[in-house]
Amino acid sequence: MLGQMMNFPLTIGSLVDHAARFHRETEIVSVNTGGGVENVTWGSVAANAHRLGDALKKLGLRPQARCATIAWNNRRHLEIYFGAPGAGFVCHTINPRLFPEQLVYIINHAEDEVLFIDHTFIPLVKAIRSKLPGVKHIVLMGARDADAAAEIEGLEFYDELIETGDPDAPWPEFDENTASSLCYTSGTTGNPKGVLYSHRSTVLHSYASNTRDCIGYSARDIVLPVVPMFHVNAWGTPYACAMVGARLVMPGPGLDGPSLVGLIDTYRVNIALGVPTIWQGLLGEAAKSSSMLESLERTVVGGSACPPSMMTTFREQYGVEVIHAWGMTEMSPLGSSNQPLAKHFDLPIEEQHAKRENQGRPPWGVELKIVDPDGAELPRDGIAQGDLMVRGHWILDSYFHKTREETLTDGWFHTGDVATLDADGYLSIKDRSKDIIKSGGEWISSVDLENIAVAHPALADAAVIGARHEKWDERPVLVAVAAEGQSPSEQEVLSIFEGKIAKWQIPDRVVFMDVLPRNATGKVLKRNLREKFGEVLIG
Ligand code: AMP
Repeated sequence: MLGQMMNFPLTIGSLVDHAARFHRETEIVSVNTGGGVENVTWGSVAANAHRLGDALKKLGLRPQARCATIAWNNRRHLEIYFGAPGAGFVCHTINPRLFPEQLVYIINHAEDEVLFIDHTFIPLVKAIRSKLPGVKHIVLMGARDADAAAEIEGLEFYDELIETGDPDAPWPEFDENTASSLCYTSGTTGNPKGVLYSHRSTVLHSYASNTRDCIGYSARDIVLPVVPMFHVNAWGTPYACAMVGARLVMPGPGLDGPSLVGLIDTYRVNIALGVPTIWQGLLGEAAKSSSMLESLERTVVGGSACPPSMMTTFREQYGVEVIHAWGMTEMSPLGSSNQPLAKHFDLPIEEQHAKRENQGRPPWGVELKIVDPDGAELPRDGIAQGDLMVRGHWILDSYFHKTREETLTDGWFHTGDVATLDADGYLSIKDRSKDIIKSGGEWISSVDLENIAVAHPALADAAVIGARHEKWDERPVLVAVAAEGQSPSEQEVLSIFEGKIAKWQIPDRVVFMDVLPRNATGKVLKRNLREKFGEVLIG
């Protein structure tokens, strides 16, 4: 016997329609690529999304055609986020910081037919245009612009394109498992791999994000997604915020400290999301200016480990709660977020703070386990470290153009992270498995060492790598970036670790750099550091 309840497909179009119906006048602030700010609403975003979907259909695209974006966080990008999938096409967000060869590979592999671009990326696209035979339309996200038109042959203009569409055009009906969006991993080795999200996975991910134990957006929030819309759908923020009708502040191209402090203070932002390096810039600027980030209540920090010292600064100097979250492109991305349990409130306050430092618990819909090299599950005791495996409703089943067998192991996705899990399900990420330091049969977490290093005021940034060692196979070497106006000696830096970790875990050497190399999503390129410094302990 089946249940006798209504059953509608879970679709992205329904999210923006809900926002338009119940939060029509709720503002969306959008920083334009060329400067200046635009104030629009969920009502106008939804109308333009419908216009765009209809206009794309009139271009003669077949269902599921890929419509790519190379763009900043702005309101037109938001309209494409809803309009393309709503009308049955796939929104493929592209990271402009990738190398041109990778961009060409991704666009051709995805078989993109439409390319929406922000003005900033005209030179980038012009340079690779001849290598993109499948792209039929390049659309500049703005009004007609004669100078831009002279740069790229056949360039079309977003504001004119949507005029050809009907704002009342209904979304077509399709199965909720239909593909909605596509994002490639920013892998540091080999070609990037595509993750093809579905309408269903996106809606379920939004529901989970909106629970109190995850991020829990609401109609009373003013949300600043600093995380780019080309990095895993801005962590799902646009979709989750449409579901509840939150206000959005779209920061455009300027993600530097002064711009962000300005946006937070001007628009009374209370929730902001981004990677640790972005918050470093923001905290640096806030310290220099008179801003106390008064409106800010919560920052969601993920993408790489949030140093506990950053949480302390946010909490003690600005009264901001940090929600430490972990996830992956392959997971839409939300895998866990750190929120307390009721029993934690009985603990001394310092212990409560310490409990907030790890990557937190998974919401319903994500399962986690850690395994040994033979695949046997390890205990959830907060001590055993193993390879982290995941499965769930918004985790990929297979990479785009790859099989399930090539992607999963016994139905689980191998994250490539090494972690511990405790009895309450709290996850602590120790390293990427390729980065963990194997010293004489023991493992040393580079994340733990980096967290200690960056807490010191003399250092602005730090990364720890395993360098080859004749006796111990590998030993930790700290690559340090001195803070502005500081020049600590190697010995001074090493003394930071004394009493904070076991003696045998203290790095053998410190080498200094002006800036750490990072990949397109802000993660430190440890492979490059190993190439440069991997032999410093030999001979
Ligand atoms: P990406 O798919 O580019 O978002 O990268 C996913 C990877 O980023 C994960 O597998 C982790 O190695 C790392 N990562 C993401 N969030 C965190 C976090 N909060 N702490 C530590 N590592 C993280």
